[in-house]
Amino acid sequence: MADRIIFATGNANKMKEIREILADLGMDILSMKEAGISTDIIENGKTFEENALIKARAVAAFTDDIVLADDSGLEIDYLNKEPGIYSARYMGEDTSYEVKNQALLDRLAGVKKELRTARFVCAIAAVLPGQREFVVRETIEGYIGEKPAGKNGFGYDPIFYVEEYGCSTAELPSEKKNELSHRGKALRAMRDILKKEAEYEGTDCK
Ligand code: IMP
Repeated sequence: MADRIIFATGNANKMKEIREILADLGMDILSMKEAGISTDIIENGKTFEENALIKARAVAAFTDDIVLADDSGLEIDYLNKEPGIYSARYMGEDTSYEVKNQALLDRLAGVKKELRTARFVCAIAAVLPGQREFVVRETIEGYIGEKPAGKNGFGYDPIFYVEEYGCSTAELPSEKKNELSHRGKALRAMRDILKKEAEYEGTDCK
């Protein structure tokens, strides 16, 4: 198996979390930029899984290394799973999350707690040398609170509450959020797949 992983993201915070969780694979983990790859990717899939695969395949066309890519977002059940795969683009990329979060709270005005269920979703796709592909999808379940709270995290964290802790994911310390989060879980699932693949490599199995 290749001994480098390229993660198709330009986001420095994600790279930090990715390096921490995948550290025990003992491979070099590079961002696209660090690998010298730049390409415009049109994310026109209909699901998180499709979009993650589109990104991973686009970058894999430039390298023989292992390529990973993720796609994530917030699904609110009462809003037919909006903003979903459009989470980053909801109300426009340049609109602040203060405005986006308030707009979602307004759309849920008067809706009782039992109907405010929501989840963060993360899909991670891997393209391995020889074009073998794997996709994992993980979630963290919660609900949309009545008002924003907390300063940690990013994006929709201030309005996304976790029942078990009775607070928003923006109120949780980052280590706790990484432990519970959709991305943390998906990264650990992908790490286990890559570990198994590396073990097969040492055998005569096809
Ligand atoms: P992407 O996976 O980088 O395309 O991000 C999708 C979008 O989903 C982000 O820009 C955020 O709006 C939202 N999102 C994904 N994960 C989280 C999270 O952990 N907290 C808050 N918002 C998130």
